[in-house]
Amino acid sequence: SQTNQQWQQRRVDAVPQGVGNALPVYIERAKNAELWDVEGRRYIDFASGIAVLNTGHNHPAVIEAVKAQLDHFTHPCFQVTPYGNYIELAERLNKLAPISEPCQTLFLTTGAEAVENAIKVARIATGRSAVIAFRGAFHGRTLLGMALTGKVQPYKKGYGPFPAGIYHAPYPASYLGVSDTQALASLAGIFAADVSPDEVAAIIIEPVQGEGGFYAASPEFMKQLRALCDKHGIVLIVDEIQSGFCRTGKTFAIEHSGVEPDLVTMAKSLAGGFPLAALVGKKSLFDKALPGGLGGTYAGSPVSIAAALAVTELIEKERLNERAQAQGERLISRLKELAERYDCIGDVRGPGAMVAMELVEGRDSHRPDKTLTQRLVQEAGRQGLILLSCGVRANVIRFLIPLTAEKEIIDEGLNILSSSLEMV
Ligand code: PLP
Repeated sequence: SQTNQQWQQRRVDAVPQGVGNALPVYIERAKNAELWDVEGRRYIDFASGIAVLNTGHNHPAVIEAVKAQLDHFTHPCFQVTPYGNYIELAERLNKLAPISEPCQTLFLTTGAEAVENAIKVARIATGRSAVIAFRGAFHGRTLLGMALTGKVQPYKKGYGPFPAGIYHAPYPASYLGVSDTQALASLAGIFAADVSPDEVAAIIIEPVQGEGGFYAASPEFMKQLRALCDKHGIVLIVDEIQSGFCRTGKTFAIEHSGVEPDLVTMAKSLAGGFPLAALVGKKSLFDKALPGGLGGTYAGSPVSIAAALAVTELIEKERLNERAQAQGERLISRLKELAERYDCIGDVRGPGAMVAMELVEGRDSHRPDKTLTQRLVQEAGRQGLILLSCGVRANVIRFLIPLTAEKEIIDEGLNILSSSLEMV
């Protein structure tokens, strides 16, 4: 068998550097919030892949559902010879979606595809083409996904030209100095100077920016955005790919605002580690797409759907929303204790278990410390803790711990975090 270093050497030739990798740790097996590498070293997982494992690695119910599915079939394309579980899961998501009107669900494979299809559906429903997204947003690595994404490096630079008709407004993140009023004024500015509101098909927003740094839009802002969309007949899309499936203490983060979107994109934790994405939204919006215009060869793989059926049952069975709330509160208070000891810890915030810790140049400073953030991720990895950074200023550690993680494991991880802070 190979060591981490041997795999890492082979990787340099075999895999493009553009794929990136945070840590030279090659995984052999995993369970809930723990991973073991090819050399038998154990790691505590505070990243969940990237927000994929709200139900933990290899949840027994997910594994059992997948094994049972494998005994039946692995792939008829739903568009050729359909299967019932696609419909079963669609019905469940239609009920789970934070929308009171009748909904429908389209399955895809990746988050970026869910976003692409949200824009397609908004365009065909409205007969308009322009889209407004937000600075700092992340919506995927396809061409349209990149166009919608706000963060330029490493996602966009050099990969253009991008599809036309995409405009960016500042995201209302008070920590970054953008108030709700300023963000709304910028939207009004876009309507006045760049594109008339009756040419705008959709506004797409992450209720809590993920890659951008875990900044949550306020309920008031979301209400104003809803009103703006209603006034101009614009489709409101919320991207819940990172924030969904109980991460914030509600099944979808938008529920904290009481606002109902028109379309919701979902992926990541939807299928407990298997590739599956969904576009869920008002039935009326889907009605104009002709048969064959939506979907894809692997869209809604029966294996991933079996996993997602198990995940949707775990929401209640494992009380995931309550656990997210409790995990988040405990984590935030522990991180605030650490902030008393380490000057480099700035703001610590939720919502729920979508927890961020800013690393700054000194107490009370808002000056981001990107290199310290990188060093901390490396040092924690060396000590056996998987951390993930994010942020428009690349100085945020984002905590995405499985919601099923045991308290003792989280405490052990926090002890490693503390001793890693000591070393950097
Ligand atoms: N949208 C959001 C909010 C995301 O966080 C991501 C992935 O990080 C995506 C879209 C893209 O998802 P995928 O990587 O599955 O294409």
